[in-house]
Amino acid sequence: MDHRIIHKQPRPGGAFELQDYERIRAEFTWDEARSRLAGLPGGGLNMGYEAVDRQVAAGLGGREALRCVAADDTVTHISYGELACLTGRFANALTAMGVARQEMVFTLLGRCPELYATVLGTLRSARVLCPLFSAFGPEPVRQRLELGDARVLVTTEELYWRKVEENRHRLPRLDRVLLVGPVKDPPPGTVSFAEVMKQASQEYTVPPTDPGDMALLHFTSGTTGTPKGAVHVHEAVVAHHATVAFALDLRPGDVYWCTADPGWVTGTSYGIIAPLTHGVTLVVDEGDFDVHRWYRILDNQKVTVWYTAPTAIRMLMRATPRNGTRQLPGPYDLSALRFIASVGEPLNPEAVLWGQDVLGLPIHDNWWQTETGAIMIANFASSDIRPGSMGRPLPGVEAGLLARGEDGRAEVTDGHVHVIGEPGIEGELALRPGWPSMFRGYLHEEARYAACFADGWYLTGDLAKRDQDGWFWFVGRADDVIKSAGHLIGPFEVESALMEHPAVAEAGVIGRPDPVVGAVVKAYVSLRPGHAPDTHLKRELLAFARRRLGPAVAPREIEFEQNLPRTRSGKVMRRVLRAREMGLPEGDLSTVESLG
Ligand code: AMP
Repeated sequence: MDHRIIHKQPRPGGAFELQDYERIRAEFTWDEARSRLAGLPGGGLNMGYEAVDRQVAAGLGGREALRCVAADDTVTHISYGELACLTGRFANALTAMGVARQEMVFTLLGRCPELYATVLGTLRSARVLCPLFSAFGPEPVRQRLELGDARVLVTTEELYWRKVEENRHRLPRLDRVLLVGPVKDPPPGTVSFAEVMKQASQEYTVPPTDPGDMALLHFTSGTTGTPKGAVHVHEAVVAHHATVAFALDLRPGDVYWCTADPGWVTGTSYGIIAPLTHGVTLVVDEGDFDVHRWYRILDNQKVTVWYTAPTAIRMLMRATPRNGTRQLPGPYDLSALRFIASVGEPLNPEAVLWGQDVLGLPIHDNWWQTETGAIMIANFASSDIRPGSMGRPLPGVEAGLLARGEDGRAEVTDGHVHVIGEPGIEGELALRPGWPSMFRGYLHEEARYAACFADGWYLTGDLAKRDQDGWFWFVGRADDVIKSAGHLIGPFEVESALMEHPAVAEAGVIGRPDPVVGAVVKAYVSLRPGHAPDTHLKRELLAFARRRLGPAVAPREIEFEQNLPRTRSGKVMRRVLRAREMGLPEGDLSTVESLG
C-alpha cells in the first residue's frame, strides 16, 4: 500500500457532500435516494423517463443534453426537448416494427446521435437494451446475439458487413436490422434507420413500467463458458442517480464527459443514463482517441467533470513532455475542470499524482463491475485521496473481505464464510446485496447466478485489502479473466477461437502485465502433429484470431508450448502459465499433469 495522502480542502456542503462520511453513511437510505427521482406520473419507475421526460416536464426542454463533437471537430447540439422527440420516434418505430414490450434491442454502434436515440427510445418504451462493443469481431458479436435471442439490431452498414453479415444465416431470429448513416445499397434483410425514423411520430408517452422490469442486458466474461448476460432492471436508475453525484461529484450545470465505450456498462450507465437524470450536458466524442484531440475537447468544451479510464490516463502521461517540468503537451486551458475520476482497472499512484501535477487535479479512482450496475467504492471529491486505493464504499453499500480457500475464491464451509476483520489482509471482495442496481440474474443461467452468492454476500471475484481506516486496495482477480485496456476478456473465448484453427491442439490464454494497458492478451498454443512452430504460423494464428475476435479481444502475443501444464482432469492451468510468464514460483503443482 502507498502511504502518501492527497489532502482536500473543506468545501461548502451540498446534497451529496461526503465531508462527514460516517454520518452520511449512517443516515443514507435507498428509499431516500429513490425519492430524489420523479417516478412515472401513474406510479412506477422508468430509466428513460428519468433521463429525458423528467427534464422536459421540469421545463428544461431547451437545455443542451448532448454536445456531439464529430471526428472533424464540428459540434452538434441536441437539447432535452429534441432528445425527447428523437427517442419518441425510435420508440414508435419499434412499435411499428412489431417489437414487443420487454423485447431486446441490440446496438453495435460507436458514439453517434442515433445511439442515444436508440438507447433512450428503447428504455422509454420499456424494451430492453443490450449494447455490444463495436471493436468485437464477428465471433463475439454472433455469440452474444445468439445468447440473447436477438431479433432487433441497430448498427452501421460498415459494421454490418464486417461483423454480422457472414453469420446472419446462423441468426434466424434476427429479422430487424437497422442501419445508421447513409446506406448506399442496403444489404438484404436490413433497413435504413433514418427511413424508419422518418415514418414514426415523435410524440410518445412512456408506458407503465415496474421498477423490477428488465431494462438492460450487459454481457460480461467469466473464466469458463460462454459470456454471461447480466440482467439489470429499471430500479437501477436509483443507484445511477445517487452514485453519479456521490462518486463523480456531478451537479446541475456541469458539462460532463465520460470516455467509456457505449458497448460496455460504464458507457451506458455513466455515459448516458446517470448524467442525464441530473439534467447536465454530455459531451459525446465521435472521434477516436488522440492525445491532442482529448485535451482540445476538455479545453474547447469546458468540461467540468471527466470520467475516464486508467489506460487512457497512462496514454496521456506518456505524451507529457519529459523536460523536467511536468506540463501539458500544448497550450490547453483546463481551468473549467472540477473533478476527474477513473474506473475499470487499477489506477497506479503515479497516475493520481500526475493528474495533480499536470492536469491540476488528482484522479479519483472508483470501483464497480457489470454485475453491481453502479459505482460501489470510490474516492470522493470531499475526502482525502490515498493514491493507489479504490476508496471507500458508497453510502448504502456494505463491502467486506472474505477469507479465501484453496481455489483462491472465498471459502464457504457449511454455507458460511469468514469475514476478515483485521486490516491489511487479502480476501475476496464481497458486497451485501440490497442496492437497487444489483444485477438480477444471468440470462438463462440460474446456476451461474446462484454461484455468485454465499452466506448473504455477493462475491465479486476480485481480491482486495482494507487499511485500518477503511480504504480498499485492489490486489487482483481471484479468477482468470483478463483486463486489457479496461475491457474484460474471458480467456476461454480466446482459447476457443484459437482452437478452431486446424493447426491448434490446445491453447491457454493469460494476461501478460503491461505498464500502459494493464494486461496484454497472450496465448500459449500447442500444435497438432504435422505443424511446425514457426514465425509464419504464429503470424497466421494472430491474424486468424484477430479476424474472428476483433482487435480488442484477440491475443497480441502467441508462444508455442507443446506441453501445456494441465490438471488431472485435463484443463490447462492458466495460473501456472501466468506464474511462468512473470517469473514467479509456480505454486502448488500437485494437480499438474505435465510440466513441459
Ligand atoms: P466490468 O464488469 O467489465 O466493468 O469489469 C469489472 C472488473 O474490473 C472488476 O471486477 C475489477 O476486476 C476491475 N475493476 C473495476 N474497477 C477497478 C478499479 N478501480 N481498480 C481495479 N480494478 C477495477
